[in-house]
Amino acid sequence: MHETRVQGNSISEIADEFGTPLFVYDTDILRETYQDLRDRLPKQLDIFFSLKANPNISVCAFLGALGAGAEVSSQAELVTALRAGVRPENVIFLGPGKDSDDLNACLDAGIHAVVCESLDELRLLDELVTRRGGSDCRAVMRVNPSFSTKGSGLAMGGKPRQFGVDEDVVAESKRFVADLRHIRVIGIHAYMGTRFLYHDDVVHNTGRILDTAERLADQLGIPLEIVDVGGGLGVAYFDNEDELDLDALGARLREVILPFAERHPRCRLVTELGRYLTAAAGTYVVRARYVKESMGESFVVADGGTNHHMAAVGIGSFVKRNFPIHHLTRPDEPPLQRYSVTGPLCTPNDIVAKKVALPRVEPGDLIGVQRSGAYGPTASPGLFLSQGFPAEVLVHRGRALLVRERDTTQDLLAKQHLVDFVGAS
Ligand SMILES: *Cc1c(COP(=O)(O)O)cnc(C)c1O
Repeated sequence: MHETRVQGNSISEIADEFGTPLFVYDTDILRETYQDLRDRLPKQLDIFFSLKANPNISVCAFLGALGAGAEVSSQAELVTALRAGVRPENVIFLGPGKDSDDLNACLDAGIHAVVCESLDELRLLDELVTRRGGSDCRAVMRVNPSFSTKGSGLAMGGKPRQFGVDEDVVAESKRFVADLRHIRVIGIHAYMGTRFLYHDDVVHNTGRILDTAERLADQLGIPLEIVDVGGGLGVAYFDNEDELDLDALGARLREVILPFAERHPRCRLVTELGRYLTAAAGTYVVRARYVKESMGESFVVADGGTNHHMAAVGIGSFVKRNFPIHHLTRPDEPPLQRYSVTGPLCTPNDIVAKKVALPRVEPGDLIGVQRSGAYGPTASPGLFLSQGFPAEVLVHRGRALLVRERDTTQDLLAKQHLVDFVGAS
């Protein structure tokens, strides 16, 4: 029987060396995913990595080395991207709640552009630049488009949102923009949602965004030096889902992007992607601690669960759907039995997979939740029950490298302060 290997390393060796639970990222898959996409998308479209999906600095560095820019939404993400080697001119910072510190950090770093999500934010940025002596600063206006979209697990446009400036408000902001003293608004950003799996929807949205950007730039009296068309390309997680058709996506995107690029030869076009770039490369590896029966159902109680992988609970769905999950210790044996794989938390919701068919599981076996390289630890309640965040390991050129240490009890307590109730009367 052959256990699962990652670039030649047996999974049990990785698990023994670094402990479980852990996330394992495979740079071969990261590279293939990026290169496949790069080869198919129109070359005019720059790919930026949304660190939100996986803020690990080495994952970011690997994607950066392949050519990806970075889309960041916090000072820590900004520093991560810069330390990972992404050049400032390939970094944008967005997010609806940036404060002066965030904006000053953008100015210090000299990033390509700040994506502003309200007129007040533009005004604040202008004030900060003025206070600093008025160097040239580029801003992009995020628009909340009036058109809605379909095909997203989480649609953005056409609804009241805290993100961006409503399209009709942008259209009437020419005066406002002209009065900004030290910042130049150089383009438009729109993000229509996440988990798009059908190329037609992406093409449709991209076309609408490009049209909108052209019209708004005209109404605002600004040049179009950048249009960020969002992204949100999905990966298939569940049985009823199909992968994006990249060939069709590339071909059809060319039809909307090439005419635009011809009209605006100096305009930078950006797509920002998190999930698509990292999901497939990651596996969440847990070890079975107990295998037990309860009222006719079999449970694998593992050492990690939704505390590290909230997404596996079932995204935006009341019906529990399972991420692809594999028996890593004995992948070749027939899946004869159904198990619910649960974690160590004291809540019945801590289920990473419900009634999945797996080969026989014994305590000590390794189970892997696949396609878990995006929205794992970053989107999970890792402090729940003070379990802490897991180790992360990157396998590169056949070597398993620790890229994030597991939280220890010390780490978890280091930020707390014990009040001395005995000494203080
Ligand atoms: C979350 C987010 C992304 C990344 O989304 P994915 O679906 O992971 O590609 C990009 N841009 C914005 C504005 C976002 O909020």
